[in-house]
Amino acid sequence: MKYIVANFKMNGSKNFVDDYFSKFQGSTKHQVIICPPFPYLERAQQKISQSPLKQGALQIFMGGQNCALERVGARTGEVSATMLLDMGCQYVILGHSERRLHQGEKSPLIQDKAHEAINCGLIPIICVGETSDQRENGSIQDVILSQLEESSPKEGKFMVAYEPVWAIGTGKSATAEDIAYVHNLIRSQPRFETTTLLYGGSVTAKNITEILNLKNVDGVLVGGACLDIVQMNSLIEG
Ligand code: PEP
Repeated sequence: MKYIVANFKMNGSKNFVDDYFSKFQGSTKHQVIICPPFPYLERAQQKISQSPLKQGALQIFMGGQNCALERVGARTGEVSATMLLDMGCQYVILGHSERRLHQGEKSPLIQDKAHEAINCGLIPIICVGETSDQRENGSIQDVILSQLEESSPKEGKFMVAYEPVWAIGTGKSATAEDIAYVHNLIRSQPRFETTTLLYGGSVTAKNITEILNLKNVDGVLVGGACLDIVQMNSLIEG
C-alpha cells in the first residue's frame, strides 16, 4: 500500500466538489488523502461518504493544505490545526513550495507549524524541493538536507514530500533517476530511515506506476492531475 495525497490547491467550488465525489471510486490498493481548500473540507467529507466507492475501498483520509502556528485568537484569516482536526482532518501539508514562494514561509516557521500540528494530533506532510537554479548549480544535496533539517519536526509522526519546484505544475516530472537520487539521500539520513517519503511534481496516470515502484518512494503528492476525476480514479487504483 502506498499513499496518494490529492492537493486541490485553490481550486473547486460547491458544484465541483459535488460532481467530483459523485464519481469518486476510492482505492482498494492505496491510502488516499484528499486535501481540498478549507471551505470545502466538510462538504468533501460528506460527499465522500455518499460516493460510489468500489467494493473493498480503503478508508479515505482528509488533510488541510496549511495551518496556523497559533491555536486560537487574533489571527485574522488563519485556520488552526485544531480546527482542521475538528473538521475531520488527519493530515496537513506544510511548507508547500507555493507557500514558501508566495507567502514567504521559511523553514523554521514550517517546523514550528509542524510541532503545533503534531501537538494537536495531525500528521504533517513536510514539503522540500530545489529550484531549477539550485539544481543547475549543483546544490541539490545541500538544499534538500538543510530544508529537511530546518523544516521537519524534531519529534512525532510526520511525512516528507520531495517536490522539485521546477516539476510542480509544469508537466515536467522529475525522472526516475532524479527521484531515486533524492529519496535515497533522504532515506540515508538516520532521522529519516523510517519516515514515509512521497514524491510530488507532475505526477499523472501515465507516470505514477513507474514512480510508485521506485525504492524509497512510499507515495505521491498530486496537484493538477487529481482535479480530473477520471484521471484521479485511475491514479489511485493504478
Ligand atoms: C503539488 O501541488 O504539490 C503538485 C505536485 O502539483 P502538480 O502535481 O500539479 O505538479
